[in-house]
Amino acid sequence: MKFVCPSCERPIYNRRVNKCEFCGEALPKELLFSENEVDNLDNQLSESLKKKTNISGNSSGGGADFFSRDFGDSGGCD
Ligand SMILES: [Zn+2]
Repeated sequence: MKFVCPSCERPIYNRRVNKCEFCGEALPKELLFSENEVDNLDNQLSESLKKKTNISGNSSGGGADFFSRDFGDSGGCD
């Protein structure tokens, strides 16, 4: 199925907006995301954002402190 405006026949880029971004014509429901689809998209978006923040949060954890302590111990042994 092709998502184009029935009035001006330009492609619909944002199916969350219920009218054509080019001519302002109201778009039929069949061409738009349903509420469920919008919910799914929002969930996917927030999931991928969560993953990204988790990765950067882990790499900048308390690792540096652990390493410096380890180095100090082995130095006194010699
Ligand atoms: Zn249009």
